[in-house]
Amino acid sequence: MEKVQLVGKHPEELKQWVLEQGLPAYTVRQLLDWMYRKRVFRFEEMTNLAKATRTLLSERAEAFHEAPAHAEKSADGTVKYLFRTLDGSFIESVYIPEPDRGTLCVSSQAGCKMGCAFCMTGRMGFKSNLTAFEILNQIFSIPETGDLTNIVFMGMGEPMDNLDEVLRALDCLTASWGLGWSPKRITVSTIGVLPGLNRFLQESHCHLAISLHTALPDQRAAWMPSQKAWPLSDSIELLRTVDFSGQRRLSFEYIVFCGLNDDKAHADHLLRLLDGLECRVNLIRFHTIPDTPFKRPDETTLQYFADYLNKKGLKTTIRKSRGEDIKAACGLLSTSGM
Ligand code: SF4
Repeated sequence: MEKVQLVGKHPEELKQWVLEQGLPAYTVRQLLDWMYRKRVFRFEEMTNLAKATRTLLSERAEAFHEAPAHAEKSADGTVKYLFRTLDGSFIESVYIPEPDRGTLCVSSQAGCKMGCAFCMTGRMGFKSNLTAFEILNQIFSIPETGDLTNIVFMGMGEPMDNLDEVLRALDCLTASWGLGWSPKRITVSTIGVLPGLNRFLQESHCHLAISLHTALPDQRAAWMPSQKAWPLSDSIELLRTVDFSGQRRLSFEYIVFCGLNDDKAHADHLLRLLDGLECRVNLIRFHTIPDTPFKRPDETTLQYFADYLNKKGLKTTIRKSRGEDIKAACGLLSTSGM
């Protein structure tokens, strides 16, 4: 009999399963408490459950986590973790330590369908959607799990293309029956898959990051095929209907490519596109990947671009490059060949 995975289930689903097994309904509260409060995932260690209940659970269910298959540490302290998924694919997560915070960049899919020209994950193609358990497992199973202050869904995959499982994982992280984290500690990134974005804005309070990279539609379509299906202008129109002046933050990720999107004209287009939106822009240096025409930006040009946007009133920062030596930096995640 295939065992049921309990991590990632909503309380009502858990209740239904528990009752089907002939167990008392209060087992749900006990299980949630062990898994999400105490971070104990082995039934034999759940000491307030009756011995017979523990035995039954061990026979029919799983709640334990899968340790990463491999870890690689960068000179700057960043750690890249490799996980095997339930269907035998591989995914990566990246832990980024800073003096005042610990951020984990998690994957939502093995590979990706979106095919962005500058991204190694896009080149892998799509392998599978991760379950909520596989998403949460990246968070629970690393040695630094207790040091995490922030989670960003910016690893492999497009979160809005696997939204059911992403929302389920977000619920486990933020609900009072789960980890009880503030949604302010979590950022979900998207290239603007419109139906998913619309639903995400209604069903989650987590921060949102949009991968933008250029304000020119034709240029964006050449780099990001998804632009043809979901034009950025439609996402911006939708975002203008949402209040980002309170707890929830909106940011735009802008990878800077040398000579392609780093001049004053591109900055002016960006200013026009985002005019009046409560948001910030994160500039990311392009990290070189093989066989592309893209090049890393010139540092002086990058700084000028950032200064120009800031002077015009658009809050802009240059994101630090982390973990480049272990191919953990933005756009470099790939498990092809495994
Ligand atoms: Fe997919 Fe994001 Fe890479 Fe585009 S940048 S191919 S959406 S992982």
